[in-house]
Amino acid sequence: MDWDVIVVGAGIAGLGVGALLAKEGGKKVLVLERYRQPGGRLMHFRDYPGPGWNVDVGLHLIELGPFGEAHMINERVGKRVEWGPMSETVQLYRDNRWISIAELANISDEYKADFRNLTTRIASMSNEEVASWDGRSFEEWMDANTAPGPIRELLATFAMIMTTIPLPVDMGAGEVLHIARENLLRRRQFLAAGYPIGGMGALTRGLIETIEENGGEIRLGHPVEEVLLEGGRARGVKVAGEQGPYPRDYRLGETEIIEAGVVVCALPIYQLPGILDFSRLPSWWGNRILDIKDEITGLVGYMIGLDRPITDKVCFYSLLETPRAKRPFQAFPASNYDPTIAPAGKQLFHTDIVCEYEEASQPFKRRRLLELLAEDLKILFPEMESATAWRLPYYVAGCDGLARKPGLVGRFKPELRAPGIDNLYFAGDTYQGRGLATNSAARSAMDCAERIMQAGS
Ligand SMILES: Cc1cc2nc3c(=O)[nH]c(=O)nc-3n(C[C@H](O)[C@H](O)[C@H](O)COP(=O)(O)OP(=O)(O)OC[C@H]3O[C@@H](n4cnc5c(N)ncnc54)[C@H](O)[C@@H]3O)c2cc1C
Repeated sequence: MDWDVIVVGAGIAGLGVGALLAKEGGKKVLVLERYRQPGGRLMHFRDYPGPGWNVDVGLHLIELGPFGEAHMINERVGKRVEWGPMSETVQLYRDNRWISIAELANISDEYKADFRNLTTRIASMSNEEVASWDGRSFEEWMDANTAPGPIRELLATFAMIMTTIPLPVDMGAGEVLHIARENLLRRRQFLAAGYPIGGMGALTRGLIETIEENGGEIRLGHPVEEVLLEGGRARGVKVAGEQGPYPRDYRLGETEIIEAGVVVCALPIYQLPGILDFSRLPSWWGNRILDIKDEITGLVGYMIGLDRPITDKVCFYSLLETPRAKRPFQAFPASNYDPTIAPAGKQLFHTDIVCEYEEASQPFKRRRLLELLAEDLKILFPEMESATAWRLPYYVAGCDGLARKPGLVGRFKPELRAPGIDNLYFAGDTYQGRGLATNSAARSAMDCAERIMQAGS
């Protein structure tokens, strides 16, 4: 056996499983990553697109910051992540201006008591009670627990920010209730968020160090072509060998086989059919994965470098439907949370709109949405255009796991171990693990590592 554990994918989940197994389980771990840079969807670029500017792959703010699972997994392996200030407020666009959520929540005393009762009720929900709502919508939960009015509007706004789904009838109630409960218990707020100093790379750097300090290795630029299944077990993986002059689409052969006692697929389920022969697994499992794999959302947005700050707030901007693109919108001045990611006196802004998976993947539809977002930005931030030094468009299909719809969240997410193959595991934001995107990926990594250590594989 070449390695105790092979992990496919160097996102936070793969690196997290690898770091825990290397440090706590004493395992010899190999992580294989197709790209030449680790981090997956948390990839971070230094001095790009110019000196002193440091950008993530797109808009990122981490639920609960130093109180969340992405921080916790680093702490568990003895690595420290520093954080900037937590969000002071959420700004909502109403009647052609930005107002703070506190202003929206400025409700009468009668409603305040109702709101307190509601938050107490959510904070005291058991795991079983939360899970019982995984198959039902947040609309249904609100129908059963609130009357129409300002409280309901406030709840729907928070839930939209948590799920990036516009309508409560499409939101999985279990996901919203879990996130709200954890935020209330850990921060006494419905939703708190932070940004790690040094950008998203700070969440994965310590995990990489841990794997390497404990005898493991991370091989970048090594796409896994197949997980090898033999006699009801995962034997290892087949990796593309060094690339010759042929482009990869034409090349045959030249593969290396690497064997291990355990294989962890830490890539999202929508990429799983590319490396795993589903006909070797029970059909009910394969059908379920194929059925839900495209239940994901897309994002298009701009990273924007400004010559001068246009706000000094440490805040998050959110809007259900923009004037032009007619899509949910999010933005925040990232360098107000972490001044090290922009040159002195300048400002880095993250922006995006949420769209369908297909709209983000199709070049013409994507381009049109980006044009409409540019028009939206002129309306939403009139002072932005004249301050813009550069603007980087980006897009992603499958931004943060499975869409958080009823029947796709919590206990309905795919299991962490393959059925019938007891040394093949999964980790990441599309598999079981609660929390908001990055935190759910980190949670699933901790649970996956625990399962492997308990199995003693
Ligand atoms: C633009 C954008 C904005 C986001 N905003 C937020 C936010 O504000 N807050 C938040 O909490 N989350 C956000 N997310 C989601 C968050 O980034 C993800 O939930 C998290 O990073 C998922 O981690 P993961 O390890 O599960 O998957 P990934 O990071 O996708 O890791 C999977 C890895 O597997 C690799 N891989 C795939 N196929 C192969 C192969 N065949 N061989 C080898 N390697 C392979 C990939 O290259 C990748 O590195 C955002 C994501 C994006 C893209």
